[in-house]
Amino acid sequence: MPLVSSTPMLQAARAGGYCIGAFNVHTLEMLQAVVEAAVETESPLIIQSTVGTVKHLGPDYIAAAATVASNANRIPIALHLDHCTEFDLIVRCIRAGYTSVMIDASHSPFEENVRQTLKVVEVAKPAGVNVEAELGKVGGVEDEIVVADNEALMADPDECAKFVELTGVPTLAPAIGTAHGIYKGEPKIDFERIGRIAGLVDVPLVLHGGSGIPEEQVRRAVSLGMAKMNVATELRIVFSDAIKAVFAKNPEENDPRKYMVPAKQALKEAAIEKMRLCGSFGKAKDFR
Ligand SMILES: [Zn+2]
Repeated sequence: MPLVSSTPMLQAARAGGYCIGAFNVHTLEMLQAVVEAAVETESPLIIQSTVGTVKHLGPDYIAAAATVASNANRIPIALHLDHCTEFDLIVRCIRAGYTSVMIDASHSPFEENVRQTLKVVEVAKPAGVNVEAELGKVGGVEDEIVVADNEALMADPDECAKFVELTGVPTLAPAIGTAHGIYKGEPKIDFERIGRIAGLVDVPLVLHGGSGIPEEQVRRAVSLGMAKMNVATELRIVFSDAIKAVFAKNPEENDPRKYMVPAKQALKEAAIEKMRLCGSFGKAKDFR
């Protein structure tokens, strides 16, 4: 089936008490690995690329690869642009075929965040493209965006409600204590805050920083209203470690297939594990 907007799949996930895995990919093999994982488990899928990867590969190449994957399979697949601060790049990605975009103006004051998000919603909604915005500041390093621990800021539930009302944004990523990258110790997720936000806002909520959150914490966040979980760092590590293992055994290896095939397999297994955690197995059937 063609690429779809992530809005209906995320609404179904929130209503159904499960979550959709959104995986950052940087190469064709990574994209194929998460698609194979979703096909094998009948999970709806969100393929994501960061701004850095879009600039590295070009939005047309990424959209073309995602479109081929989507057309070849019977599961709903959305292609999402992660953490974008540039309006022009968002428009370019939509033109290339992206079906979901994130406008991240969380570093700006509330009114400016509203203004920038509204501007994106106005171009994306008529194109049938999902929009995600962020309130508060998720800590850690995500591509070119760096937020120090002491600058990370939790989202205010009343502001979340006001923000959704003012912008009409269909999905919201409130900062609730998770961080990008790998956690030193356990993440300090503010579950009470997720519950309060979900009580005031009926759009699907997005959990950023999904690498290494303990299983029971993911389940609790999902039960409270988190309908999308972003996973990036953990997958990069799994993929790269598999390549390193090949070179450790055979430093002279020079056939990319010899190290890409095991890397792809390792990533696929990690993605399946995340989909199991999200509770998305078998949910693709609901979209046929
Ligand atoms: Zn993020």
